[in-house]
Amino acid sequence: MTLDEHLRAVRLVDHHVHGWFTEPGDRASFEEALNEGSTGPVSSGFDLPVGVAVRRWCAPLLGLPTHASADEYWAARSATPYDDLVATFLGAAGVEHWIVDTGLTPDLVTDPSPRSEVLRLELLMEQVLGEPDVPGAFRERLAAADVVATKTIAAYRCGLDIDWSRPDDAAVAAAASASGARVTDPVLVAFGVHEAAERGLPVQVHTGLGDRDLDLHRADPLHLLPLIRAVEVPILLLHCYPFHRSAGYLAQAFDHVSFDVGLAVNHLGARSVELVGEAMELAPFAKQLYSSDAYGLPELHYLGAQLWRRAMGAVLGEWVRRGDWSEDDAIRVVDLVAAGNARRIYGL
Ligand SMILES: [Zn+2]
Repeated sequence: MTLDEHLRAVRLVDHHVHGWFTEPGDRASFEEALNEGSTGPVSSGFDLPVGVAVRRWCAPLLGLPTHASADEYWAARSATPYDDLVATFLGAAGVEHWIVDTGLTPDLVTDPSPRSEVLRLELLMEQVLGEPDVPGAFRERLAAADVVATKTIAAYRCGLDIDWSRPDDAAVAAAASASGARVTDPVLVAFGVHEAAERGLPVQVHTGLGDRDLDLHRADPLHLLPLIRAVEVPILLLHCYPFHRSAGYLAQAFDHVSFDVGLAVNHLGARSVELVGEAMELAPFAKQLYSSDAYGLPELHYLGAQLWRRAMGAVLGEWVRRGDWSEDDAIRVVDLVAAGNARRIYGL
């Protein structure tokens, strides 16, 4: 089998993903959902790299020619029963297992399956804030959770440049009693991560780009060095863009650090080829994972997989053509990033 044939056929583990909207929504909400940084309409979502990629790659699945216009795309999408639309895009993704962050707007989305779940540490902390013994209640809930990993959104709550030393229970209790309903105290955030590590649960960390309420300069994974040096469980750096080269360095330097360029693969559209190429520069091949980080639009569950397959084909295919890599090497690395590394790290 050639590399291209293998890339078309290989089944993926999407190691960080969310559900799709339970309702198809109107055009304004669709276009808004194409803009990761937006919390309100800013410009047409079709007038973004990901919007062009939707017209290029998703349009044919709705029976349209590639590069159909935005109006044609919206008309065809609206005319397709939503359940059929979801089944079409989810099926075409070629994903055999989803690892789902269920903590983002659970009432608005339907989660894919078969799936394993990821527990959001800040959400769990918010659920136990009113308990008489917050550290104890947190540990109890964490021990009872049926999940393959945890996730911290420290980048959204306090930045990654915090004191990552392990707080004692008295400090946690004091921080909990002073906390508002939305946990932002670095003591509570660091406590959650250390508790997850204590239980041996992999920790996914949001790094790099996100909504506009995130301070991007405080989302650089290099800020995590003190944490990386303090724990031994797998640390999964999510998204990473534009810090993916730093993430690649961390993955090379530390055995327990891995990363993905999910989310950015979709949002960079045609340039996802260069992004994947840069992610492949330095990091060990056993330390990179595929993810879409799709949320809301079923198009994104498919598009992430499609753009990743295409980027790996372009990058590795070029190396094979130049004689730098054998085709067997390329196929082996595709299998690692597509699914093998995720199966190993999460014990699937
Ligand atoms: Zn996510």
